[in-house]
Amino acid sequence: MKTLQNVWDNCLVHLTGLVNNEQSFATWFVPILPVKLENNTITLQVPSQFFYEWLEEHYADKISKAIKDELGTDAKFEYQIMVDKGSMKNGQSIYTNLPGGNGHADDEELKNGFGGNALVIPGIVNQTKLDSQLKPEYTFGNFIEGDCNLLARSAGCAIAKRPGAAYNPMVIYGGSGLGKTHLAHAIGNELKSQHPNKRVLFISADAYISQFIEALKNGKANQFSQFYFNIDVLIIDDIQFFANKEKTQEHFFHTFNHLHQSGKQLILTSDVPPRDLPGINDRLLSRFKWGLAVELRIPDFVTRVAILERKAQMEGCEIPREVSEYVAHNISDSIRTMEGVLTLLMAQTVLTNKEIDLAMAKQSVKNISNHVSPEISCEFITKIISDHYRISIDLIKGKSRKRELVIARQVAMYLCRQFTNKSLTEIGKFFNRDHTTVMHACTSVADQMKITASFKDEVDEFFKKIKLSE
Ligand code: ADP
Ligand code: MG
Repeated sequence: MKTLQNVWDNCLVHLTGLVNNEQSFATWFVPILPVKLENNTITLQVPSQFFYEWLEEHYADKISKAIKDELGTDAKFEYQIMVDKGSMKNGQSIYTNLPGGNGHADDEELKNGFGGNALVIPGIVNQTKLDSQLKPEYTFGNFIEGDCNLLARSAGCAIAKRPGAAYNPMVIYGGSGLGKTHLAHAIGNELKSQHPNKRVLFISADAYISQFIEALKNGKANQFSQFYFNIDVLIIDDIQFFANKEKTQEHFFHTFNHLHQSGKQLILTSDVPPRDLPGINDRLLSRFKWGLAVELRIPDFVTRVAILERKAQMEGCEIPREVSEYVAHNISDSIRTMEGVLTLLMAQTVLTNKEIDLAMAKQSVKNISNHVSPEISCEFITKIISDHYRISIDLIKGKSRKRELVIARQVAMYLCRQFTNKSLTEIGKFFNRDHTTVMHACTSVADQMKITASFKDEVDEFFKKIKLSE
């Protein structure tokens, strides 16, 4: 009768033929200890979880073949791994048994995801068909380009083209409503279209945490790992939610390492730069810094208008330019809030059967953002002039008669006269001048506007800006 050791020794002979690299053989096969042979299944003890994962990924087929050559086609193998329970009190070793990669043996398991419990990610049918959970409506095509997202966008395109090759991980960070989730989906969708066979998964950090907790509860942490180890492109949204979740972080650390080492792509989003992520342990943070962190900034006015108009168009509705400009002007911190206004406007036209107009937009902005119209005061106007010409308010109100200062000062006085109820004397006082200076400023600006078209355009822009704030 063949003893366990005999059988394994013979398997090793087969394996030396199959793994013709001495170094690999010494590293991965010599440490294996055969511990049991029962029902034509051989149990192999391996030193660590990592060791097991490595064997499964790189050598499972070969081990299976060697064992079948030795014991017949129905032979199987399983692993016994020493589970690291931290301190290992009393010198006790705890082992866990896991099935080996026995050809078709675990297809059933893959079909059932995590064995039919709550962990099953919808749509998993088999190993090659994984529902990526990507939203098809979030694409590069409708992600409007602007200075605010240029780098993030182009890095995303590079990743979609060659996942795992550059920027790994890619961390997209930025404030709420600035397009992180949209961009992450867009990268996933583009990647899928260029590499249909890649296993892409989009998951929110929240969902990942709940799945992990569920897996722990049901003793399925290993299946959970296996599932994630098999992904080619893992996209996790809002990783700030990993904060203070020690166990999840520890587990994710291993997933991260495994995927990264195997050249698989990781894409993460966060509402703060990775270096500032609170409640995330240092070793995980250090991993996040390996790749590229790109920021999504607040889009500028022109980009905000373009985004609004594109969204409206996608909804099959047209909004007048003055409306999109009004909304973009008054809501600048979040694209999501801008979209909220648009939704409200569209609802209103349906309900009232009226075209979207500026008055409706003003009302909607008020409703959505608690927007308070700034008082149109001399201060407010001077601030707009100061921002535009990049001249400080103090200089505008000061004594200097430098040409560019005089022009800025006169335009400010003219606009104060147009938009406020203040008298010439009051305006003069604000600029530390008397009323005749203000009067003179008003006539020279009006005259100049008639003579120089570019100057008129400039003043008209100020008109528009101030009007939009009403
Ligand atoms: P975040 O995840 O950063 O909170 P989202 O990705 O959910 O933000 O974006 C909020 C909304 O703004 C989404 O509807 C998204 O489509 C839209 N959006 C953000 N950036 C852009 C952009 N550059 N072009 C078009 N739509 C955008
Ligand atoms: Mg988001």
